[in-house]
Amino acid sequence: MCNKTTFEKHSDALKYLNLQFLILKTLLTDNHGRKINYLRLAVTDRCNLRCFYCMPEEGLNWLSRKELMTYEEMLRSCALLVRMGIEKIRITGGEPFVRKDIMQFLTALSVLPGLNELTITTNGVLTAPLVPELKKIGIRSVNLSLDTLDANRFFSITKRDEFANVMETLEQLLKHKIEVKINAVVMDGKNTQDIIPLVELTKELPISVRFIEEMPFNGDGHIYTGLQWDYVRILDEIRHRYPDMNKLTDSLYSTSYNYHIPGHKGDIGVIAAYSRTFCGTCNRIRITPQGELKTCLYDAGVLNIKDLIRGGATDNDLQNALLKGFSNRPKDGWEAEKNRSKNLPAHESMATIGG
Ligand code: SAM
Ligand code: SF4
Repeated sequence: MCNKTTFEKHSDALKYLNLQFLILKTLLTDNHGRKINYLRLAVTDRCNLRCFYCMPEEGLNWLSRKELMTYEEMLRSCALLVRMGIEKIRITGGEPFVRKDIMQFLTALSVLPGLNELTITTNGVLTAPLVPELKKIGIRSVNLSLDTLDANRFFSITKRDEFANVMETLEQLLKHKIEVKINAVVMDGKNTQDIIPLVELTKELPISVRFIEEMPFNGDGHIYTGLQWDYVRILDEIRHRYPDMNKLTDSLYSTSYNYHIPGHKGDIGVIAAYSRTFCGTCNRIRITPQGELKTCLYDAGVLNIKDLIRGGATDNDLQNALLKGFSNRPKDGWEAEKNRSKNLPAHESMATIGG
């Protein structure tokens, strides 16, 4: 006969739950056997820049407060996803730092049990004064978007005179020893003359500069006429100037092909975001500012977490819905794009996708 005390029964239940999470953690894979352990969470669609490749000059049709996920809803979703196996969360947008009280949210996320890494992608306009606090809450790495080192070209690409603030953010990040990856989108006729100067930044600075292929997600800001600068052309341009650059070994889930130029303190990388060469090991999912789960950058969204939460879903309901979403993932971005074009035209902005 079993004579267990209430405490023993509770601890048995906890062990069972932990075991369940452990099983789920190891089983958090998609229908193609790819591990899912990385969430990119877009906390807003709003932005204080108007990057040519991301949104039109007049901005987007911004989401209303009611349409946005609340911080509580995001925190609950993140906590559940971390219990299910997500190990890394990147906060993005829109521009994360334009959302009110973002530091409180980041602080709460930073202590989520089981979360190994919290990172941020920012345009750096409002970030510099917050760097000490970011360091304090344990942010070890920040992706800073910077497409040019020329203040006039910065204005022509972003339509805002904020170059000095972005450079100040870079300085503060370096000063506080936060790892910096610079993201530069390469655009024909706009900033290809910046490729070499950006590479040269890695000579003295211990940063990684990554060149990104332009994708057709510009919120109808301009007509995407096809990719002019793919990763091969970008690499050729760099190799022409630095014939002795070495290929580095890329980590398993890396979206960039990485290189090092002898004598330089930093590295460079190219991200084939349009050519989609990295889908075979894709470990990431996205949640958009309005709570849509995307299991591929190029899909149209597979379920709305915010709607489920507001409809009274329990954690168990949410978990089942998420698992169903993960078990239906397209094989690659080409398949996702083909599926979505049956239903929706692809006129999104990266600011509403969570780039
Ligand atoms: N506002 C923040 C920033 O710019 O870093 C975070 C959001 S932004 C959408 C995230 C990243 O997406 C940026 O590095 C940006 O350069 C990139 N991005 C935006 N639109 C893109 C496009 N059409 N093609 C390629 N990358 C794009
Ligand atoms: Fe704003 Fe980032 Fe889009 Fe530029 S890329 S408009 S900074 S959201």
